[in-house]
Amino acid sequence: MPISRGVANADSDMKTEVVVLGAGMVGIGTALALQQRGHGVTLLDRVMPGRETSFGNAGIIQREAVQPYAFPRDLATLLRVATRRGNDVSYHFNALWTLLPALLRYWRASAPANYAGIAQAYGRLIAHSIEEHRPLIDQSGASALVQKNGWRQIYRSAASFDVDAAAATALAAREGLDCGVLDSEALAAAEPALITPLAGAIHWRDPWSISDPGELVARYATLFQQRGGVFVHGDAFTLHQHGSGWSVRTNDGLLEAAQAVIALGPWANTLTRQLGYRLPLFVKRGYHRHYATATHLQAPMLDVERGVMMATMSRGLRLTTGAEFARHDAPPSPVQLIRGEESTRQLLDLGPPVEASPWLGARPCTVDMKPVIGPAPRHPGLWFNFGHSHQGFTLGPASGRLLGEMISKEPPFIDPTPYLPTRFER
Ligand SMILES: Cc1cc2nc3c(=O)[nH]c(=O)nc-3n(C[C@H](O)[C@H](O)[C@H](O)COP(=O)(O)OP(=O)(O)OC[C@H]3O[C@@H](n4cnc5c(N)ncnc54)[C@H](O)[C@@H]3O)c2cc1C
Repeated sequence: MPISRGVANADSDMKTEVVVLGAGMVGIGTALALQQRGHGVTLLDRVMPGRETSFGNAGIIQREAVQPYAFPRDLATLLRVATRRGNDVSYHFNALWTLLPALLRYWRASAPANYAGIAQAYGRLIAHSIEEHRPLIDQSGASALVQKNGWRQIYRSAASFDVDAAAATALAAREGLDCGVLDSEALAAAEPALITPLAGAIHWRDPWSISDPGELVARYATLFQQRGGVFVHGDAFTLHQHGSGWSVRTNDGLLEAAQAVIALGPWANTLTRQLGYRLPLFVKRGYHRHYATATHLQAPMLDVERGVMMATMSRGLRLTTGAEFARHDAPPSPVQLIRGEESTRQLLDLGPPVEASPWLGARPCTVDMKPVIGPAPRHPGLWFNFGHSHQGFTLGPASGRLLGEMISKEPPFIDPTPYLPTRFER
């Protein structure tokens, strides 16, 4: 994708109507939604679009994810996590003290009475995930990256399978989701790559999976440019109020904008703190690695009891890990990936790793599990769109549309109240 220069004026500074800071799935979703509504938009990143968190995820457009990941509240799970016996969650002991205030609020938001309302709001946004991606996939010529086979939760033990299958079936009936339950034989027939018999699987059939998540973002960015949008390299942390608008330093000079959108994923906290906000944001880190194998999965699979996701991607079979609670900038500690690789070798002919070391990224999380979408409470012309946690790849276009409608003063397609940044100002 070519890097565009902005429109230079006499003193070599550039001007735009809206600058979107961050070219991950959320930033590009926002830029496209604003452009569609007639705004002049410049998208800014320090690297090419889709090279960070939106590059390294499991690539699933999770239409089924109507229930955001809650903090576990049952004693058995808490003990399993605390003693590091499971592989889905890990933590750095020395980060716990810093994370404690956020974790306490996350715990409180996960109490059944609070969680019910959160999940309702989340479900209303995620319900639009596929229909907002669909036209962008078509218009950006990215259909070859998409598989429409859903994804599966696979189970080794019959006991956990039975419990989860009953809950999934009830959830699907309540939320209008397409969910199938496969016994051991049905799973073996549906996924011939499995070399070990398993107890069964839950098959979520609505979601789509993408064979190269970073490439999908890059295609959307090319579409944005083909439609007249401008992409520039620059440093979002140089954002400053400038007259009645904003300015930010790009590699080509100063860019002035009437309005600015912060869509910096796990880096949003750095800039919002600079501007005086104390938002309850934290990260859950995650790893991936590809393996060179002829094994081709019919659909991505999550080994629920081993906490590792497997997906066939363009660079090989990608394993992705669950949540690691750690400082964003702490050195990598890919124990979950090492364990996930070991356990996956029991199920698949995995082959050797492609990369010398695993990729590390960070899910941008909020204490109430909902993204932050809306006007910055104390800065006119500044907007937030970040904190999409486990589902930012899914939600980028839908949450871009919601913010685009707010900025354009159009009636929003869903009630934006649950997402407004002001919920943390009370
Ligand atoms: C292991 C793992 C698996 C996941 N699986 C899924 C999945 O299957 N489905 C799903 O929906 N979600 C998944 N997620 C979550 C999803 O990847 C994230 O929620 C999403 O990518 C966040 O997108 P974003 O645009 O907010 O952030 P990013 O994609 O990180 O974009 C932020 C951008 O800001 C830029 N930036 C940062 N600082 C600066 C600066 N100073 N100046 C300029 N630019 C800057 C970065 O370069 C980056 O391009 C997964 C995450 C992980 C870690």
